[in-house]
Amino acid sequence: MEKHSIIIAIDGYSSCGKSTMAKDLARRIGYIYIDSGAMYRAVTLYCLDNNLINDGKVDIQSLAGEMKNIHITFATNPTTGKQETYLNGKCVEQEIRTMRVSSCVSLVSQIDFVRQALVAQQRQLGNDKGIVMDGRDIGTAVFPDAELKIFVTASARTRAERRAAEMQAAGENADIDAIERNIAMRDQMDMTRVISPLRKAQDAIELDNSHMTIAEQNAWLEARYNETITRLQQQ
Ligand code: C5P
Repeated sequence: MEKHSIIIAIDGYSSCGKSTMAKDLARRIGYIYIDSGAMYRAVTLYCLDNNLINDGKVDIQSLAGEMKNIHITFATNPTTGKQETYLNGKCVEQEIRTMRVSSCVSLVSQIDFVRQALVAQQRQLGNDKGIVMDGRDIGTAVFPDAELKIFVTASARTRAERRAAEMQAAGENADIDAIERNIAMRDQMDMTRVISPLRKAQDAIELDNSHMTIAEQNAWLEARYNETITRLQQQ
């Protein structure tokens, strides 16, 4: 029987465990995993390092001119086996997860030409299918024909606690209330922006993982993948 290679789109709110489950599934089934949020974070880091964000405003004109100089790639760390994000050849995996970047990323991700450039790159990465991509608009805008779409939610406090644990593990100070405020602010900006706002695709399966362990949510996702493959094989 033909083995189907599919696109798996995982969207949802900030810090609700999308990437944890996406990475786990990709590893189990031998698919590529792409963290689309990391791409918006890398552009934001570039803006911060090049004085393109001042007083909470992005210098749109200068950024438009700079887009051709922003190259984002991914590579697997040979020691940890984890995927890392590179900005113009430099590993920025840690830096893009800091509050400095988190507090500005939703400003940058609203910009039309930034979205166009990153969506084009994301589509290219999915050309051969066999990909799990997580983000905010993957099932609605990047891959509207994805064979499996998931929309993940969890309570704001649970999400803040998870992000704090992630930051502490990376050796960063984590103020849980500040993190919760940042998550709520990003959700609000991501849901209300004009271009590709965060919303559940009509054909996405919703998962509230507030009370699930990581193992439970990974198993849940793998079951949805297996169902999808079975359905496609029966067609
Ligand atoms: O997923 P993560 O929290 O790292 O994403 C950071 C930010 O990037 C989001 O808050 C959102 O503003 C933006 N983003 C987006 N579209 C995506 C992925 C992320 O607008 N597909």
